[in-house]
Amino acid sequence: MIEGYPEIAKDVAALKATPNLVDWATERRTFSWDEQWKGIDRPGGMLNKAYECVDRHANGARANKTAIIWQSAAGEIERYSYLDFKKQSNKAANALRSLGIKKGERVFILADRIPELYFAVFGTLKIGAITAPLFSAFGPEPIKERVSRAEGCTIITTPKLLPKVNEIRSQLPSLRHVIVIAHREGKPVAAGDIAWSDIVGPASEEFEIEPTGPDDWSIMHFTSGTTGLPKGAAHVHNAIVSHYATGKYVLDFHEDDIYWCTADPGWVTGTSYGMFAPFSNGVTSLIDEGGFGARRWFENIQKHKVTVWYTAPTAIRLLMKAGTDIPKSFDLSSLRYAMSVGEPLNPEGVVWGIEAFGLPFHDNWWQTETGAIMCANYPSMPIRPGSMGRPFPGVDVVIVDEQGKEITEPMVEGALVCKPGWPSMFRTYWNDQERYDSRFKNGWYYTGDKAKRDEDGYIWFVGRDDDVINTSGHLVSPFEVESVMIEHAAVAEAGVIGKPDAIAMEVVKAFVTLNDGFEKTDALMRDLNRHARARLGPAVAPKEIEVIDILPKTRSGKIMRRLLKARELGLPEGDTSTLEED
Ligand code: AMP
Repeated sequence: MIEGYPEIAKDVAALKATPNLVDWATERRTFSWDEQWKGIDRPGGMLNKAYECVDRHANGARANKTAIIWQSAAGEIERYSYLDFKKQSNKAANALRSLGIKKGERVFILADRIPELYFAVFGTLKIGAITAPLFSAFGPEPIKERVSRAEGCTIITTPKLLPKVNEIRSQLPSLRHVIVIAHREGKPVAAGDIAWSDIVGPASEEFEIEPTGPDDWSIMHFTSGTTGLPKGAAHVHNAIVSHYATGKYVLDFHEDDIYWCTADPGWVTGTSYGMFAPFSNGVTSLIDEGGFGARRWFENIQKHKVTVWYTAPTAIRLLMKAGTDIPKSFDLSSLRYAMSVGEPLNPEGVVWGIEAFGLPFHDNWWQTETGAIMCANYPSMPIRPGSMGRPFPGVDVVIVDEQGKEITEPMVEGALVCKPGWPSMFRTYWNDQERYDSRFKNGWYYTGDKAKRDEDGYIWFVGRDDDVINTSGHLVSPFEVESVMIEHAAVAEAGVIGKPDAIAMEVVKAFVTLNDGFEKTDALMRDLNRHARARLGPAVAPKEIEVIDILPKTRSGKIMRRLLKARELGLPEGDTSTLEED
């Protein structure tokens, strides 16, 4: 345990709702996925996430129950019941099918958190196509890279974000349709583009879902590796049982919950836990289109009587910075349970929740590839601040040594691996099976993280086992940033690292060397920053750019990012015998 942070005991009888998972150890012994499948309908043998999330509730007792309370950035509220969702996603499905989009094709969505984004995701799933939501803060380059890797046939976007698509669409031969959701912004749609309201407005509210099965593709999210550009981790409809079960046991959904997931659907948390887990459990979700703001966020909890809240460490650290006076000025008594994911949650963050609103944050761990939560702190289980909890009952998450042998001694660091075969396991990296296969070794799936386990089975995150950067909970590939930096006429080479940061955990920092004839001037630095932001967007662009004379490289010419990082941090440089510059 981290010194100064004693275990947080739980008095289960005093909790506002009896937890669905009453005792982790018993559940671990008795858990069966077959039992969880009983919570999923599978009519006529069909398995489709949209049916399990929307239609079965719309066809039953939850038809008029609110599925989402939507709040626009300006604060207007719209409510959609499960029945509304069925109709709207059916209309979207009819519209997409009328364009000739077929099962298995990739439909990208680049939009802020507006209701149509959610209708489009479920509509795409209903026609059996693959939905691929993109983060709206991406610049043209990350958009182009992702759409072209997945050979996307359609991009659904908004007038505000359309210029980024227009910049790259001529480079996307697979792209057949650009659909623009223009009515909310009151903008016209250019000839050649399709207005969402023109095709969805008149479409029928009835739709027969494509009869997909458990192994049919459903969703793709892009994730970053150390080498190469981001990869499309593709998931199948089978994953829904993981979303349903973790929704029940980790998010602890109860019928009357008002649930708020602050993640954007451009990242996997925003779909697995912003859509599939709450919808498959039939609860009501708050969706806020607006961005972060300490006052706005606590006001949201008060106004909408949020009971279950799932957020991220960077946001928690920003809330901490804003101070406890803000949460204390709101009535947050509706809240019964708070969770965090995406990066390590420092113990200060866990206990700050208690100080600010009387509840600790429960950290949990998973990644794009796992599709669903794999390791968690549960409402009924004591928290060890700084630990990401214990494995979900139906999965095996362990620490192994270099030979792939499980490490059983407590607190010995090793690779964090999962036993393949959990229901929401990703099934490929799109068009890159070789890279997918490389993640499986010695009978394990290697997560790329390092961790250790204590004597009671709590897992403690140590760090990444590679150079991937985690900034505000979003993984960034150094290679993707380097590729854009070297496009600039002045840049000869680039090496990109994650520089530790008190709020965002890491920020992206680029080191560049200059081509002959260029000099480091203020004007050049401004231009480099402008170039990076215009091409990559604020979510990926470096926060710092530094010009250096020479980049450290191995004899085979690979840039040694670790060494750049060690130098940046003033740490020992380790073995530099393979350095070119030596
Ligand atoms: P992504 O695939 O973008 O969701 O990122 C997954 C990665 O984020 C993991 O492999 C970890 O490196 C990191 N991560 C996610 N959750 C946690 C957590 N609770 N503690 C520490 N790191 C986390």
